[in-house]
Amino acid sequence: LLFQGQSIRASAPDTEGVVEICFDRQADAINKFDDRTVQELREVTALLAAQKDLRGVLVSSAKDVFIVGADITEFGAKFAQSAEAISADVARSNEVFIAFEDLSVPSVVAINGYALGGGLEFALSCAVRVIASGAQVGVPEVKLGLFPGFGGTVRLARLAGPAIACDWVTSGRPASAEAALAAGVVDEVATPEAVNERARALLQQAMAGTLDWRARQQRKRAPLPHLNVESFAEARSKAIKASPPHQPAAVAAVDLMAEGASLGREAAIALEGRVFGHIARGQAGRAMVQTFLNEQAVKRRARTAAKGAAPVRQAMVLGAGIMGGGIAFTSALKGVPARMKDLRPEALEQGMGEAKKQVARLSRAGRLSEARGAEVLASITPQLDDAGLQAVDVVVEAIVENLDIKRKVLQQLELQLRPDAIIASNTSSLRIDDIAAPLAQPERLAGMHFFNPVPLMPLVEIVRGSRTSEMAVATATAYASAMGKTAIVVRDCPGFLVNRVLTAYMRGFLQLIADGADFAKVDEAMEAFGWPMGPAYLEDVVGIDTGSHVNDVISAGYPERMPALADDALRLMKREGRYGQKNGLGFYRYEISETGKPKRSLADDTHTLLATLQPCGRREFKVEEIVDRMMLPMVLEAALALHEGVAETAAEVDLAMQLGLGFPAYAGGPLKYADWLGLNELVARCERLTHLGPAYRPHARLREMAAQGETFH
Ligand code: NAD
Repeated sequence: LLFQGQSIRASAPDTEGVVEICFDRQADAINKFDDRTVQELREVTALLAAQKDLRGVLVSSAKDVFIVGADITEFGAKFAQSAEAISADVARSNEVFIAFEDLSVPSVVAINGYALGGGLEFALSCAVRVIASGAQVGVPEVKLGLFPGFGGTVRLARLAGPAIACDWVTSGRPASAEAALAAGVVDEVATPEAVNERARALLQQAMAGTLDWRARQQRKRAPLPHLNVESFAEARSKAIKASPPHQPAAVAAVDLMAEGASLGREAAIALEGRVFGHIARGQAGRAMVQTFLNEQAVKRRARTAAKGAAPVRQAMVLGAGIMGGGIAFTSALKGVPARMKDLRPEALEQGMGEAKKQVARLSRAGRLSEARGAEVLASITPQLDDAGLQAVDVVVEAIVENLDIKRKVLQQLELQLRPDAIIASNTSSLRIDDIAAPLAQPERLAGMHFFNPVPLMPLVEIVRGSRTSEMAVATATAYASAMGKTAIVVRDCPGFLVNRVLTAYMRGFLQLIADGADFAKVDEAMEAFGWPMGPAYLEDVVGIDTGSHVNDVISAGYPERMPALADDALRLMKREGRYGQKNGLGFYRYEISETGKPKRSLADDTHTLLATLQPCGRREFKVEEIVDRMMLPMVLEAALALHEGVAETAAEVDLAMQLGLGFPAYAGGPLKYADWLGLNELVARCERLTHLGPAYRPHARLREMAAQGETFH
């Protein structure tokens, strides 16, 4: 062996003078480009350069994938450095890739499985690329608020041309082997069995001089032959349109590719690295990398929470309404047959109608075959009675939001249920302990709080009441995961995690209105901040009657921080019968457009109506003040919920807010937002607003964290 590291090994030159480099990360199923791997590649490259009898290099992977990308767990510490230090860091890695590219012999890489991010970027520094059919390549960094930093923007533009390079970099979408071939990113597609063999054959051609590998390498060192100004301009306007709010990476990448097009390799890569440092330091880069880590952590926690779960083979959903229909459909779609019970035949018809619509939607999108669609529908059993209850492992209760009714219905149910079956309530504002109180076996009740619309919303809060058994929590978590949802276990409290934090935010809105703010200006400010909808629009979509009720019930649970208001905009709208989108009038007016979607416009009388709640009249607010008055109570409530142990980790709190509420991705969730502001700054901003009441008062633990210079992540 020439080299044996922990991620790379290199054979001694064979009789033909060929060294085989194999990526084979020890004690792992995949290869990734962490710091250690880059260091090993540096050592290997130096050894190769010093080999006298070397004639060619073959690169491959011993895993099912080539290299899946950088090691994202290293990003947190790296990106905490200054922009200059980050740029210097990528420059050191780029030296290695450049040295490899500049070896005096040809290199051919066999790509199998996935070559993503740094994995593809390294493959691009080889002279020739062979890819296995079925493999995928791409640069997904934009999904982390970044762009390729190992020369990927430079080499892709030179190999594939500006239009394709910009498309790959700004979309982050992986490409198939065939697409990569058509784009000029790879040289040949082979069957997975033959890919290494073909790589060797091409290397022999290169060594024999029948394949001009020097020209291929030279092309990546030179500026782009024709400066294609138009395609960069087109890519830029596309990237602006496609970029979510406050995510500058895609546009920055197009700009640096345009500028780098007229530069040689070294200068273009240096430019890429300089801009990379700034983007990685930026809010979106920091937050989106954290979100990726949060997702990993939350998945692990859900797997742990699901240990000891009873198998769920058959479910029953009580209530075929908006929620129950969606839950039964999603269960059936993911392979758990569901009985769907309601008192009203017309509700059952509606529930089945909704399921049919969903099946049709998925079929149209090519995601469900006709046969499978029919199976899904056949595995939903609408019924008015309790038939089949003995075979049911989980009952999800999704009937009216009324404590007495829920208690009575579940007391009845538990008498007939198998003793090992569990019950999950989908309540959004009642407490699990309150629902469980009269049950004979309260330990088998947990909460499964789904979000509307169920088939699309990825989050389920699994609620652990004070008497809920581990088995019930485990089974509900496993069932939610089987339904394809992200399950986050939270402790029972008014509003659980998501609606509790949302209520703090909504009360900020109600107070702004009472103090004279224009609701439409508040919406504008919060949409500019990055929320998909401002608070007034959101309540219109949720339904003002529901929103107002939820707001009142949850507020009543926290009288110290959320004291009862004499009156508020939601109650006023509700009294006026303005329920929002569902009846065409709320804060805004809605008309059904030609495409069948409700179109929002300003209703002329909303301001007059709200003026009755504004004793001091209308007042202009600065955008920053609106944002702080909305966001600070939300951040404080999220921090308090974490400190109280409603959720156990900051990762769960932040991911829940993104998945449940659409918290802007670039900000990463309320706690990452707090980290970004800095906890001292957060406390200082709160102090400027404490005259607004207890919702703006930082609690002791947060002050302590600020004083100690701690962060949530
Ligand atoms: P819904 O009014 O659309 O549906 C409730 C259904 O339950 C009705 O069809 C009703 O006929 C049926 N029902 C009433 N009593 C019943 C009984 N004893 N047995 C069987 N069926 C019975 O209500 P929804 O919006 O689907 O809400 C259901 C539950 O989900 C509530 O607890 C609500 O708080 C919660 N939830 C709602 C949302 C939402 O956005 N709508 C979100 C999360 C949670």
